[in-house]
Amino acid sequence: MSTFDLDAFPFVKARHFRASAPPRAVRLIVIHSMEAPEKGETAENVAHFFATTDREASAHLCVDSDSTVRCVADDDVAFAAPGANADGVHLELAGFARQTEPEWLDAFGVLMLERAAVAAADYCIKYRIPARRLSNAELADKANRGIVSHAQVSQVFKKSDHTDPGEGFPWAFFLDRVSRHVQAQQTTLSRSSTMATIKSVKLKAADGPPSVEIEIGHAQFGKYEFSLFDTDGRNPVVVGSGLTHDALPDNFQVDGNPATLNGRFLSWSANIIAAGNEPNPQFSVAVHVRQRGAEVTGSPITKQGPLTGPRAEFDFVKLEVS
Ligand SMILES: [Zn+2]
Repeated sequence: MSTFDLDAFPFVKARHFRASAPPRAVRLIVIHSMEAPEKGETAENVAHFFATTDREASAHLCVDSDSTVRCVADDDVAFAAPGANADGVHLELAGFARQTEPEWLDAFGVLMLERAAVAAADYCIKYRIPARRLSNAELADKANRGIVSHAQVSQVFKKSDHTDPGEGFPWAFFLDRVSRHVQAQQTTLSRSSTMATIKSVKLKAADGPPSVEIEIGHAQFGKYEFSLFDTDGRNPVVVGSGLTHDALPDNFQVDGNPATLNGRFLSWSANIIAAGNEPNPQFSVAVHVRQRGAEVTGSPITKQGPLTGPRAEFDFVKLEVS
């Protein structure tokens, strides 16, 4: 299953866990806050703590804004939330349960939540878990599968008193990002009902590999990723990703003979947040596809509007080569 990002994360083995014969029956994705600061080294620090502590404590993944560290193999049992250890995978996020929703959705938080959403989406697909939050009543019934907080596990199973990740955790934003990543991995784009509205860009086989550029306008702060799908809209491969907090464009070359791109899909996602404090922030996203430096037919693909909060944009085009 090498398509999972999970397998690529650095592994710092926790000292305490219970080995389990794969495949483990996982029905829950449990979200925790580490009760440690929103800092770039927090995932590494907590992974180090799990690797060395005398306390029986561990989790599968530690996530901060710039890294995801695996501490327990997916099919082994972490000691993270009694009641949901045997049938859960546990994600630890940098931050505190006391944080408000705006504090979770600051620049650090949006980047971290995106990393966590990518991992959670992989778990959803791997263990056939729907990208939705369970109520406490649903959590209590072991027939249900979904995403919960450590606080809910405490309330339902009454084996710990932890309340993380807290009342301010931005569930709607997080679940939306998980759903989008599940869709991006699973959707058969060419067979979807939106087929009639799929935009295309026209490439010329003789003009060589195309370049792709994304501009996130209005000086906003954005994180973006481009993926190339096969002609069935499956098997996405990331062809470019990055961060931008200025109006400078970011460029990628799509490698290979253009003929091999015919009928394939190029998608992009961008998470955008306001970089400043202006009263009515706006956003714009423009994606340019070029060959030999010239815009091809169908390019650019643009979107703009008011930026009322953190915004997740997703779009794709079909590549037609003649
Ligand atoms: Zn917890």
